[in-house]
Formats: sequence, structure tokens, C-alpha cells
Amino acid sequence: MVPDEDLGPLVATEMTRCIHCTRCVRFMDDIAGTNELGGMFRGEHLEIGTWIGRSLRSEMSGNIIDLCPVGALTNKVFRFRARPWELIAREGIGYHDSIGSNLYLHLRRGEVLRAVPRDNEAINENWLSDRDRYSHQALGHSDRITRPRVKRDGIWQDIEWDEALKLAADGLRSAIATHGGDGLGVLASPMASAEELFLLQGIARGLGSPHIDHRLQQLDFSDDAARPLAPGLGAPLAEYPAARAILLVGADPRHDAPILGHRIRRAWRNGATIHAVNPLGFDHHFQLAHDLIGDPAAQLSGLAAIARAIAAQRGMALPEEFAAIEPTAEAAAAAIARNLVESEPSRVLFGDHAARHPAASLLRRLAAWIAEHSGSVFDELPAGANGAAAWRVGCVPHRGAAGRKTNQGLDARAMLASPRKAYVLLGAEVPADFADGAAADKALSQADFVLALSAFSTPSLEQHASLILSLALPPETEGSWVNAEGTVQTISAAAKPPGQARAGWRILRMLGHDLGLAGFDLIDFAALASVVRPLLSGGAADSIGTPGTAPAAVSAGEGFIVQRHLPIYAVDAVVRRSAALQSTVLADESVLALHPEDSIALGVG
Ligand code: SF4
Repeated sequence: MVPDEDLGPLVATEMTRCIHCTRCVRFMDDIAGTNELGGMFRGEHLEIGTWIGRSLRSEMSGNIIDLCPVGALTNKVFRFRARPWELIAREGIGYHDSIGSNLYLHLRRGEVLRAVPRDNEAINENWLSDRDRYSHQALGHSDRITRPRVKRDGIWQDIEWDEALKLAADGLRSAIATHGGDGLGVLASPMASAEELFLLQGIARGLGSPHIDHRLQQLDFSDDAARPLAPGLGAPLAEYPAARAILLVGADPRHDAPILGHRIRRAWRNGATIHAVNPLGFDHHFQLAHDLIGDPAAQLSGLAAIARAIAAQRGMALPEEFAAIEPTAEAAAAAIARNLVESEPSRVLFGDHAARHPAASLLRRLAAWIAEHSGSVFDELPAGANGAAAWRVGCVPHRGAAGRKTNQGLDARAMLASPRKAYVLLGAEVPADFADGAAADKALSQADFVLALSAFSTPSLEQHASLILSLALPPETEGSWVNAEGTVQTISAAAKPPGQARAGWRILRMLGHDLGLAGFDLIDFAALASVVRPLLSGGAADSIGTPGTAPAAVSAGEGFIVQRHLPIYAVDAVVRRSAALQSTVLADESVLALHPEDSIALGVG
């Protein structure tokens, strides 16, 4: 009998079964890069464990379940819940980052009991992040809304769908009649399917409102018009391991997109040199040659120094707006510049933290300029799981579907700073999904009518919403997702939605139809997908304007500049409700970082 060690909430152990093959040990060393498992004692006393009896910290730890040949390591959430012959497998994809990992969902009578990786060499190979493996737990969370609800005299009442859709259409018609299209703001979670986002923008624009956005966590949109049709990777994901030099800009690949992090680690193991300009010293599973950490202003200065060094090495002029930024860490910047210029291939990754930077537009121009003039590929992670599709189908305030010109609308931040009289929320949770949750709370509390399509109920939603339409989540609904490299993946509904919850595309189609809008007569998913699919191919388009100037907040030098850090298991409403993920050590990653001088001035210990 070998004692079982507690590896945390995700992986159960039955170590009497262990045959000491060391596959799990080698996975943790070679692939996960966290070296958390090893062999203790010798000969017949050999035991596999963590050395110090602590929970696993890897964001990829669940993969050791799949590769343990004898069942000594099992899925703690799933084990003993079903026999194999009770399960059916359905294809699914991960929807918590922009990689779109392929997976199989194992279901019993419509309930997802387990997720395992589905091989796709171009995307996730045969690995799966813990976030994609365990998030299905949230499908049965007690916060799920199982039927439409309306608030009458401050009391929430369950109602039938016919009445709910009529109330939704009447509420929107009334808001438009009173305040015009300009009075309506539409905010969508980037987790929604392309079909849902397409119909949503059709409703917004059909009602005369250009105010629609999915970039809820971002603060700076001043370069919208000058950007290509959709953010994404400049070269295939599978080519990352061949890179010889990589510059991370506002990126924590392990937590932003764990499968991408794994590919970058492979590049490092293959000899690539990796550098970072980041807001925090993240716990990478590769070594950095240079790690320029600083507040938002320092990140701009660090990148400006790299751009300046590239310009000097290439004997070219630096654009004026970059030359005006005081450079820092010039010796390190010169070394980074030289490494990028001399390495082939090299890549510059503009990550999630960079997108949330208060002057993201300037940071993006700097990073793109560095990539262009060092001969590197420029990669930008889209927001959430389906940001790439949201741009393509027109769920942005400055472009319609496929980049068509539209009236300029307000972006996500402006819609809250300048509150609308009515809002439509698609899967957007207040305040957690917003860069400035307090501003979202305040704006929604002032609205006359708030229509929420939501899978979960929260006190905040119940306070703000006038009407809630119960929404099915991705494994319960068919839809298309476009990943960071532009791969379109359409999946069928796998699980059964709870109660009377419905697919978002069905709700939006019926709502658009009831509102009398054109283009809402497509009655089945296949017909809708045939309209949306052509919009999803191709990611590049000519820019339709010039970049605006970056907000002055970063260089103003007064007060605090806030850059939000979003822990790996707080990225969306589903992940936030997976009990197993929330019990891991990675879930407890709330950080408040202050400069030492500021903390002394504030008397913060
Ligand atoms: Fe033991 Fe399984 Fe690890 Fe092999 S993979 S060493 S059998 S626990």
C-alpha cells in the first residue's frame, strides 16, 4: 500500500497502482515546465510525488491524467461519476482563450461529465489546459438561469418565452422611440459565438445604434480606425517553436493562453531567446534573457528604447511620436533589438495585458513598428475566445460586418463613461467582465431599460436588468469560433441547456424578427451559418482611418495609473464558477502592485 498524496482539486491519486513509468514526472519537467513531480526513495520504496506535499501549480496539470497508463492519476471532478459505457463523446472546443483547443466532451444524458483533449496538431496537439478541461463544472452551477425572468415592481418573476420576447421587443422599441438609436448601448462578451455576435450587431444597427462593442476589458480604442479587420497571429501557431527570438509585450502566455505558452516554452527549449516588457514579473516556464518590468509609462519607455535601438542599428529615422518618449533600460533594449534583428524567424507577441494597457494604441503601434523593422512576425491576441470573429462580423463600433463602413459608435469604455438610456448585454457580467466595473455598475443603474441575455444570475444583474433572457452556454449551443490564427471552427450543440434556456442565436433571431428588422428570417442554424461563414474568412483589410492620439493619462504623472490584472481563472463568467478551478492555487492570484515609493507614501505595509 502506497499512501496517496493530495495533488489539489484537479487530480486524484491512487498510488498503489503506480508502475513508476515516470511519464507524469517527465510531462511536468518537459511540457508543463513546473518540475512538480519526482521520484522519492529508492528501489522497491520508490514513490512518485511532489516532494513537499503541495497542490500542483501547473495550468496544464490535467494532462497527466491522460498519460498515466494505469489510472494512478485520475480526474478528481469526474471519477466514480459514470462508467465508460454510459458516456457518449461529442466534439467541442475550448472557449476561454483565443486558441480554440479541440476537445471531446463526455456526456451522460445531456450532462457534461468530463472533457478530454482531441488531437489537432495545428492547434493544441494532444494537450488541454486545465481551464478548458474543468470549466464544464460551471454548466450546472446554482447561478444558472433556467427560464426568462422579468422584474415587476422590484420583484423578479419567471415568464414564458413568448411573453419575454414581446417584452424585450417592446422595451427596445420604446427606448428607441424616446431616445433614438443613440440612446442604446450594446455590450457583448467575446465568448459568444460568431452567429450570436453577427445577429446582435444586426439588431443594434437595425435599431439605429452604432454603439456596440465586445472589448469590455480594454481602455484605449483610439487607433480603432487604423487597425486591420481583426487582431490575430501573423503566422501559424504551430510555427512558434521554430522562432529564434520572441519579444513578449504585456503578455503572460502561461495564463493568457496556456497552449500558446506551451509552444513558446518549446521555442525556448529549442534555443530561442525570449524577452519581455511587462507590467509584472510573471511566473514564466521559460527563462527570459531580459525582463523589463514597469508601470504603464515604463512599458512605453521600454518599448520606445527598443524601437530607438532598432532605428539606430538600421540607420533609419524613428517616427516622431516614438522619439518623443523618454527611453529607459537602454543597454537591455539595445540587446533585445539586436537579437530580434539578427534572429530568423522572430516574433513579437502583443498579449492580453498590453491590450488592457491604458495607452494600448500607442503600445500596439510601438510593438508593430518593432516587429516590422526587426523582420519579426507581429502577433496580437484577440480579446477572449472569439474576439477575432467579433471584429469580422462587425461587433465593434466603427465597422460593420466584413469591415463595411458604418456610422462611428461609442466603444465599450465610452458607452459607460457617457451612459446610454438603454442597454443590451449579451453574456456580459457586471462588474467582473468590465475593465472598470464601478463605471459599468453606475452606467447601468442609470438606464431606463436593460435587456440581459445571460446564463447566470448575480445580485448586480438582478439590480440593473429589467428583463433577463436565459442563455445557453457554448457546449449547449451550436456556433462558430475563430481562433487567434484565423481558423474557423463550427461545433454542434453537445449538452442539454438547463430548463428553458435557449441558444443565443435563437433568441436574437426571434427578437430581430419580432422587431421587424431585415435579415432575421433565417430559421435554422445551417442557414444562418451559411450567411456568417463567408464573413469569417480573411482577417486583413485596409485601414480606414489614421490612428488617434493616445490618452494622456500615462504621461500625465499625476495620481495612479491602473492596469488591470486578470488572473487565469477569472477571465469569464464560466471559469469563475468552476468550483475545482476556483479551489486551485492559481485561482488565488489577486495582485495589487504598487511602486515601493508609492507604498511608503501611502503607508501601505
Ligand atoms: Fe506512476 Fe502514472 Fe506517474 Fe507513471 S504516470 S509514474 S504510473 S503516476
